Amino acid sequence: MITAAVIGILFVLAAVLSVILLCTKGNNATAYIYSDGELKYTLPLDSINETVTMRIDSENGGYNIVEAEKGKIHVTEASCPDKICMHTGYISDGTVPISCLPNKLIIRVEKKKTDNEPDIMAN
Ligand SMILES: [Zn+2]
Repeated sequence: MITAAVIGILFVLAAVLSVILLCTKGNNATAYIYSDGELKYTLPLDSINETVTMRIDSENGGYNIVEAEKGKIHVTEASCPDKICMHTGYISDGTVPISCLPNKLIIRVEKKKTDNEPDIMAN
């Protein structure tokens, strides 16, 4: 009976662990930075441990300073007149992208799905 209980507990632990792993993978946020309609940078936001600052120059001579932290990204400085990209603030998921129309800059965040692991998903 004790062995059965131990095996039962192990099964529960394994189930809990796989759920935690799946959730962690599901939260993998990746930032895609487009400039002039081209994908310029891909940043895995969840593996950033220190703040990453980048300057992105556009063809019209404008620029945006982009700062990425663990799990989120925002525009800290921009040459555009409206500063809408700066006012968007931090984004951390796919709800709203940051866009700077004057500089043709778009930053969007996508959370990786676990579609490529059907074995675990199928239970
Ligand atoms: Zn802007």
